[in-house]
Amino acid sequence: MSNIYDLTRKEFQNIVTQNGLNKFQGDQIFSFIYRNKVRKLEECFNVNKKALSLFNDYDFETLNIDKVEKDSLGNIKFLFRLKDNNLIESVVMNQSYGKSICITTQVGCNMGCKFCASGKLKKIRDLTPGEMVLQVIKAEEYLNDKLSYVVCMGIGEPFDNYLNLTKFLYIINDPKGISLGARHITVSTCGIPSKIIEFADLDLQVNLAISLHATTNPLRTSIMPINKVYNLDELFKAISIYLTKGRRVTIEYILLKGVNDRETDANRLLGLLKHLDCYVNLIPYNDADTTFQKPNHDEQMRFYKYLRDAGLNVTLRKEMGSNISAACGQLRGNNLA
Ligand code: SAH
Repeated sequence: MSNIYDLTRKEFQNIVTQNGLNKFQGDQIFSFIYRNKVRKLEECFNVNKKALSLFNDYDFETLNIDKVEKDSLGNIKFLFRLKDNNLIESVVMNQSYGKSICITTQVGCNMGCKFCASGKLKKIRDLTPGEMVLQVIKAEEYLNDKLSYVVCMGIGEPFDNYLNLTKFLYIINDPKGISLGARHITVSTCGIPSKIIEFADLDLQVNLAISLHATTNPLRTSIMPINKVYNLDELFKAISIYLTKGRRVTIEYILLKGVNDRETDANRLLGLLKHLDCYVNLIPYNDADTTFQKPNHDEQMRFYKYLRDAGLNVTLRKEMGSNISAACGQLRGNNLA
């Protein structure tokens, strides 16, 4: 059975117009579902009965909260059970500028990054658009509050599930629906050049973050196997094309002690990003049961200041959620063990 949350508003319109009705009736049902939060078609009042009947075969519930963990800062981690019993997770981070949710895009991940807990669990399947949408809806329901930001940085590689991802983005951005501004949505990728270029032409100004993490091909290949397929050269060509469309990118850079946090690394990073209009977000490694270590606070600050003083637009990410195992597949891993 298909899920109602898999459908973009355009798809609602197509279904009704293919049956001889006005596309407005598709919009109406879409709005009832997202604005009025109806969970049963019968609750859509004053909507043409024939239009409603076209959606009789779609179901609403495909995601159940299995477990919730909270920390003292108001961060919440949800473990969700999908209809086929697979488990996924989302984390809500309570930030001064609003609540942001980090959602999962695939069950497991095939990218195999060496510092990441998610990569230890191979991809079982892609999430549908509805399963991504429902992470947002269920979290908002649980919190009884609106989420201000959505980041696709949970388990999975969003660009390895491109079509479903973009449908999800259209659904949450839609002004007749959840209506989350594109500038409040961020997609993070390990760097698949063809998709970066395609994403530049998407008619949504969603933020793009790229997981760089290393400045030489041998090092990047050794920690991110995707680099064997698309090396730094190809990645930066795609980033340049993306930037020509007037968009900006955020470069994510994990700090791994003694591996990529030396002065030579900082200098190479400056070289790679010279002339590129981008932000850099330094992420202290979050212990994920791998062989890596996080640099101590002073070492993190040294790397950060070096880049900042050289004129880079750089931030050092505050560490959040490590005490609720909020980083990258840890809760799911714990529950599968
Ligand atoms: N596959 C996508 C999105 C998921 S990972 C990507 O690669 O960008 C989201 C971010 O968390 C990425 O920047 C990823 O490299 C980072 N990450 C993964 N494991 C981490 C860890 N143990 N500590 C800190 N950041 C981590």
